[in-house]
Amino acid sequence: MPATLSARIQLVQGDITRQEVSAIVNAANSSLLGGGGVDGAIHRAGGPQILEECRQIRARQGGCKTGEAVITTGGRLPAAHVIHTVGPVWNGGHKGEPELLAHCYRNSLRLAEEKSLASVAFPGISTGIYGYPKAEAAAIAVHEVRQWLAAHEFPEKVVFVAFDEENRRLYEQKLR
Ligand code: ADP
Repeated sequence: MPATLSARIQLVQGDITRQEVSAIVNAANSSLLGGGGVDGAIHRAGGPQILEECRQIRARQGGCKTGEAVITTGGRLPAAHVIHTVGPVWNGGHKGEPELLAHCYRNSLRLAEEKSLASVAFPGISTGIYGYPKAEAAAIAVHEVRQWLAAHEFPEKVVFVAFDEENRRLYEQKLR
């Protein structure tokens, strides 16, 4: 059961590829050609159409820089769209990581707003292979989403998807 933490923010523990939302956000890498972790899971579940659109974006603009975001179809996913954003690799925290991670959330939300998407689900960007400390990353995620929702009509709802128990507890704390 998703916990409703405010009218417009939900927290669920589980697999982001199963979320029935307008868009799920992918923790992509700058090549946009797929990778491990949540990226691999999204491409496996959504099928080849997502990678095909990523290739077209790459041909147009040469990939995606850290902190930026692009949008594709959701292919066979329940979500109609995937927003691919490239999180920073954690390098000790003094290489602009917090600001870059905040940009990921803001730029993803901006794309959702431009398309008037009703709902967007986020995984913990950068908190897997890229090594961002989970508590700090959750604090940034919650702060940026709250700020955005306070000032914008779209997306109407944001779902934080915690893959594991530890992440779910961290989000619960930050959202309290
Ligand atoms: P990054 O390279 O940005 O660190 P990862 O994919 O390695 O990206 O991890 C990002 C976060 O996504 C991690 O917290 C990881 O536990 C989580 N994750 C991995 N698979 C899934 C999934 N299927 N659904 C939701 N979250 C996932």
